[in-house]
Amino acid sequence: MRLSNTLSRSVDPVQPLEPGVVRMYSCGPTVYRHAHIGNLRTYLMADWIRRGLEAQGLSVVHVKNITDVGHMRQEMLERGEDKVIASALAEGKTPREIADFYTEAFHADEARLGILPATHFPRATDHVEEMVSITERLLERGYAYEVDGNVYFSVSRFPDYGRLSGNVGGDLLEGVRAEADPLKRDPRDFTLWKAAEPGRLLFWPSPWGDGFPGWHIECSAMSTKYLGERLDIHTGGVDNVFPHHEGERAQSEGAFGGPFVRTWVHGQHLLADGVKMSKSSANDYTLEELESRGFDPMAFRYLCLTVRYRSRLNFTFSALRAAQRGLQRLRNRVWEWSALTGVAGVDGADVEHWRQTFLERVNDDLDMPGALSLTWAMTRSDLPDRAKLALLLEFDGILGLGLAGSVESWRVPERISEAQARRSELRARLDYPEADAVRRSVGDDGYILEDAAAGTRARPKSELERRRERWPEVSSSREVSSLLDEPDGPEFSVGIVACNYLGDVQRCIDSVLPLGDRHSLEIVVVDNGSTDGTSAWLEEKAGEDPRVRVIHADHVLGEAAAKNILLKQSLGAYVVLMDTSVEATEDFLSPLAAALADASVGAAGPWGLRTSDLRHFEEIDEGRADAIQAYCFAFRRALVQDVELMRESFRFYRNLDLEYSFCFLEKGYRLMALSSLPLQRHEHRVWTSLSEEEREELSMVNFRRFLRRWGHRQELLVSAGGG
Ligand code: AMP
Ligand code: ZN
Repeated sequence: MRLSNTLSRSVDPVQPLEPGVVRMYSCGPTVYRHAHIGNLRTYLMADWIRRGLEAQGLSVVHVKNITDVGHMRQEMLERGEDKVIASALAEGKTPREIADFYTEAFHADEARLGILPATHFPRATDHVEEMVSITERLLERGYAYEVDGNVYFSVSRFPDYGRLSGNVGGDLLEGVRAEADPLKRDPRDFTLWKAAEPGRLLFWPSPWGDGFPGWHIECSAMSTKYLGERLDIHTGGVDNVFPHHEGERAQSEGAFGGPFVRTWVHGQHLLADGVKMSKSSANDYTLEELESRGFDPMAFRYLCLTVRYRSRLNFTFSALRAAQRGLQRLRNRVWEWSALTGVAGVDGADVEHWRQTFLERVNDDLDMPGALSLTWAMTRSDLPDRAKLALLLEFDGILGLGLAGSVESWRVPERISEAQARRSELRARLDYPEADAVRRSVGDDGYILEDAAAGTRARPKSELERRRERWPEVSSSREVSSLLDEPDGPEFSVGIVACNYLGDVQRCIDSVLPLGDRHSLEIVVVDNGSTDGTSAWLEEKAGEDPRVRVIHADHVLGEAAAKNILLKQSLGAYVVLMDTSVEATEDFLSPLAAALADASVGAAGPWGLRTSDLRHFEEIDEGRADAIQAYCFAFRRALVQDVELMRESFRFYRNLDLEYSFCFLEKGYRLMALSSLPLQRHEHRVWTSLSEEEREELSMVNFRRFLRRWGHRQELLVSAGGG
């Protein structure tokens, strides 16, 4: 097998130091939260390397560490932050309880994806002694120095530092934070051991006093302990290259002499909406979320097979759906062929040729997309079906889709097998209309009859197949057609984005509908990937009241994308975007329409904001505003053509209202606050459900976006005579 080696920047053969045994280390999870599917993509990559090597007679000793003193980023650690501890405090638990919980969840995720368990899963907190002893060794050998109970690695002592990542000279300083630790001799130096500050929850004794280890040192310690001083393969995601692996390499080679790792393999990122999947971009999905949307975890494995590990993979639900269909079709093959009897026939030149070409794909820098398409070609070849089945299951030993096991559970009750026999018989008699009627009746019952070579067979519908029958769903705002060119329909469109919190959704909608006695109105709802009973309730509501229209999204679209669907679908002369935390206590539509009748007014709402520096915004009661808050934001529909749709890079709701308000100001419209509107604000659950840290992080990202575009447009402000 040849793999792209980050260190040599070439595709190198795997040649284990000890013949027949490959020592592989994979950077594992930080267990203060669920792994997201981006993390899991990286673990899948290591799994395919391992399965590929094992299928070719090598044995693999695989170590995957559990980072249970969670220093996500070295600089965070250097500020004394620790995510495991922070989550523990927030949830009222001990760090150990938090770590244990998420470690279990991680193992369960890996199992559901068919990832083989590593030989060892060492926990960082069980190896602090080893970390201390490597640190001592580095001090002895002159690669480290101590200042006030802190030990730092001295980068200048290791001239090869920077070779793995290609970060040399000035580049190295880029990753260093402005408020660098004053105790460091060189800002590039990194922490091996940090003295515990007073009041710290978790710390260990050391020759330098109580403290806790750096992040990189844990991997140097655990890899050496279980694999020795030389590794054949080390894996991780590309974000691990620097500083984590650069630091790890410097430590290990400093302590034990080089070379530490032969082949460094780094998986490219999983993206969603074009950016790296991560908690802080609010675009991270867990396996559990995919499952709650009806997907089989294995569909994600299949999806990852379709893109080479060294390429980015942009995750979308439509791609996942296609992957699930592909998986289903492979399972169908297994299911169909396993009904055949006779000898398997896995010998012969043809079979051997398929086997060899499949392995060639795997060995060629893990070309899993090539291996998968070869698998498909094989299933369509003219080999006997029994041989195809045997080869397919053999290939699956590396693909890891668990094909054999998945069809075993396809049991059907007696009434369904009877229907299956009846359809077979009717088809044999060429009575197709009757045969199709039988199939339809079974379909309503949750089963599928499929006609295979050996006759009709029955299987339960997959979760996804059942869901797709409920109501149509969209995956992006692009899929929704625009009605902006259509003439006005009702006087008002009230647009609502609903995502769970059914009680709030009901309160909001039920408070608006009675206003229909006085106004012609419609309520347009984007059901933004709800997973509780909200979708079903909305569907029912729309069924009984034609003024309510629902567009279901198959996952949580970004806030701007969801609102753009509202903008495109609204037909009212006035569009009123309303948050589900808001309740109408009386007719608030008449005063809104009166304010918006003034052609110089672009948007209006009860909660306005003013600013004088574009950094601080204050709520105002009445009159000209610099922004209207999203709780209730109204404008004439005709203006959308001029102001345009919202910027979809705003995934999180916060500050999107500032952004959109400024789009109106820029076009020369005024914004009006109307404090006396009869609306009541209740708890805003999207906000209150977030931790302090999440609020801060998500808001910041959007505020920076806002500032980049509008930060120097002082002239638009009311205080500057703008608008
Ligand atoms: P963490 O739990 O953050 O330490 O990450 C665990 C592993 O997932 C590391 O090897 C990371 O490099 C990798 N990783 C993090 N984000 C992504 C992503 N969006 N796509 C692929 N791998 C990732
Ligand atoms: Zn690591």
